Amino acid sequence: MSGFIKGDNRQQATLFPELLDDYIADDNSVRVIDVFIDSLKLDQLGFEIVPKNKGRPGYEPALMLKLYVYGYLNRVQSSRRLERETQRNVELMWLLGRLAPDFKTIADFRKDNGDAIKQVCREFVLLCKRLDLFADTMIAVDGSKFKAVNNADRAFSKAKIKRRREMIDQSISKYLEGINKADRQDTNESRKTKVRLKERLAKVEKEAKRLELLERELLETPDQQLSLTDPDSRIMATRGRSSVMVGYNVQTAVDTANHLIVAHEVTNIGNDRAQLFNMSEQAKAILGVDQLDVLADRGYYSGNEILNCQNNNITTYVPKSFTSNSKAAGLYDKSDFIYDKNSDTYRCPANQVLTKRFRSVEAGKEIYRYYASQATCQDCPLKSKCTKGKERRVSRWEHEDVLDELEKRMVNEPEKMGDRRATVEHPFGTIKSWMGHTHFQMKTMARVGIEMSLHVLSYNLKRVIAIMGVENLIKAIEA
Ligand code: SF4
Repeated sequence: MSGFIKGDNRQQATLFPELLDDYIADDNSVRVIDVFIDSLKLDQLGFEIVPKNKGRPGYEPALMLKLYVYGYLNRVQSSRRLERETQRNVELMWLLGRLAPDFKTIADFRKDNGDAIKQVCREFVLLCKRLDLFADTMIAVDGSKFKAVNNADRAFSKAKIKRRREMIDQSISKYLEGINKADRQDTNESRKTKVRLKERLAKVEKEAKRLELLERELLETPDQQLSLTDPDSRIMATRGRSSVMVGYNVQTAVDTANHLIVAHEVTNIGNDRAQLFNMSEQAKAILGVDQLDVLADRGYYSGNEILNCQNNNITTYVPKSFTSNSKAAGLYDKSDFIYDKNSDTYRCPANQVLTKRFRSVEAGKEIYRYYASQATCQDCPLKSKCTKGKERRVSRWEHEDVLDELEKRMVNEPEKMGDRRATVEHPFGTIKSWMGHTHFQMKTMARVGIEMSLHVLSYNLKRVIAIMGVENLIKAIEA
């Protein structure tokens, strides 16, 4: 049709550039992958770089690694799709010297070199550090749930099995009732109904047996959960519209200057309460600093974790979680009682002194109880707002000073929570959008960890390219 731009005639001979290199612009990110992987000492990272003496020669680890980094950077994570891309993608032809490994070789490389691939991710973080891209003393820690290769129907918790068994019991009663009724009627039609109901009954009884076996297996697991497709994945609560997901909880420590991921870890624990110190320590070691400020959301609020951080020169900024039973019951909250460090007493809303009375150990923590005399509380005009017992008791952990100091920091530096939000939202949102609907492609925690390292490496690589540009980054790697 005339009036539109016309393409070349397919039958006409054309003059392609003689060099494959002419197809790859100087600012193409594939050039960074090439230079970065070539700059690594792969044997020291754990790759097998000596060729085997016998059999067909294999592909160089550097080549396979380039293929994977390219794939994750360009949202091509599956080995079958990577195989296809090596045959039709000019950038990959350039990167791999026109070699095209088959999907099995590609998949095996990722599977067999998990630890070494994780080290490559770490090497890029160290490069970012050398390039001064981190805000040395402040990171934000955050966790997000990622879907595993495990359908929700194939994951079980105790409560889920209980619910299913109740439904099955109801069905069994309904079918037995129907069979009895059909027996009583004893007509041609009822005899047919009876046969149908008996078939259904056999099916639900079979399902009840299966659930019984699953429950037995489940009760032997430490966290009383069972996932049939990916055994390491777990049912986890999410903040999103679907309130649960079968997946993993990925933890990251993100730098507040350029939103680069300093450290990451895949866990299958559904909450973040035991992760603050671990992630902060990892980040502190990589950054090589003596002191670190760490920002996290209320899901990380845990006395022991905050204490561990404080003891290791990590200053935390974590809002307190809302778990007050008193407040929920419409009574004064602990924050309404003012602690006096000098006298080691509390002052209550009626301005009475609550003295330290006795010590107990709860969940491994030393706890002290403070209260006024029974008579004082009995005569108090505020008692109905304070306690339903004889007197109001206030508990104090032996290291509660640490939490008081955190509280003060949170009041004096409210902008820190804004910094946290601005820092952590970017990486998880970006990585999830690259992963697509299914998130992880591999099963078991070890393999999912490899995938996450490749995603983190790609995220950091893309981010640094956006900050410095391809050519500057190449110069910096080569320097
Ligand atoms: S009930 Fe006891 S602790 Fe509570 S406000 Fe009155 S005196 Fe204070």
